[in-house]
Amino acid sequence: MDIAQLAEKVIAGDRRALARAVTLVESRRADHRAMTAELMERLRGAGREAVRIGLSGTPGVGKSTFIESFGMMLTGQGLRVAVLAVDPSSARSGGSILGDKTRMERLSRDPKAFIRPSPAQSQLGGVARRSREAVALCEAAGFDVVLVETVGVGQSETVVAEMTDLFVLLLAPAGGDELQGVKRGIMEMADLILVNKADGALRETATRTRADYAGALRLLRKRPQDPEGFPKAMTVSAVEEAGLPEAWETMTELVGWRRAQGHFARNRADQARYWFREEVRHGLLARLDEPDAKARMAALADRVAQGEAAPAAAAQEMLESLGKG
Ligand code: GDP
Repeated sequence: MDIAQLAEKVIAGDRRALARAVTLVESRRADHRAMTAELMERLRGAGREAVRIGLSGTPGVGKSTFIESFGMMLTGQGLRVAVLAVDPSSARSGGSILGDKTRMERLSRDPKAFIRPSPAQSQLGGVARRSREAVALCEAAGFDVVLVETVGVGQSETVVAEMTDLFVLLLAPAGGDELQGVKRGIMEMADLILVNKADGALRETATRTRADYAGALRLLRKRPQDPEGFPKAMTVSAVEEAGLPEAWETMTELVGWRRAQGHFARNRADQARYWFREEVRHGLLARLDEPDAKARMAALADRVAQGEAAPAAAAQEMLESLGKG
């Protein structure tokens, strides 16, 4: 595969090239990892910047309905929208796949949109690293908005927050009791809470739920990356397509402020540091899995067990041999 050519095509906005590039970054083959590294290095200089939005919510809250309506609104404004997913569970449970195109039929047919389901890997770390690269690919391909969908289970939100510029939590209308159901950590991560299904018989409950969450958000510690009045809680109806322009306006207001204040760039720089460390950590662990290293490890473990070497000294020897690999 000619990586230079692939990079050029991705930057030119060739969708098939983008799909091939995403497949490449999702691959676990060692030679593909090396090609991915080269590809990402070539795309780094594309000089494009999308707004990366993390979107989380429990199953049934209306994520796919929202992404479809919200995405169509954005493409209607001439913006190009990519939708990716981080879902470590799909590989295990075989349940509904996040980012599945059949859940967003109109958007998947829209030439201004690109939808990609979660890579099928069982480890969150693996899914996250690949998705993070897919986000960068979409950005280099000139998408204006990259939505990263995840399911509300806690850990996956944390990694999605490490690859996005703002974090949106989608919630359903609910009685006061259920407010407790949202983990504090997830609340603290949210820049914007959208209470969905604010329509028909649910409208009133949604309005009350919004007020409850607005109150809860006010009790959280003020973060330096927030302008006055943020994080915010709003109501939307994905089905009736209500409140979506206001939600987008709020997001762009927040991003604009963060850009002007330097928070946006600082956050991206911190994220780059984070992913660099993750790659190094993962690369070291992967070396331990290589056949030679496994054999050395087993031999050293035997020596330690037989009292022929101290654990720390044997570990030192092992680590030094990895460094030479
Ligand atoms: P997901 O599992 O979070 O992706 O949720 P879905 O988008 O599949 O929606 C789950 C259910 O909620 C479906 O029956 C949708 O029709 C319904 N739903 C989604 N958005 C709305 C909305 O804005 N209003 C109402 N009344 N129902 C909605």
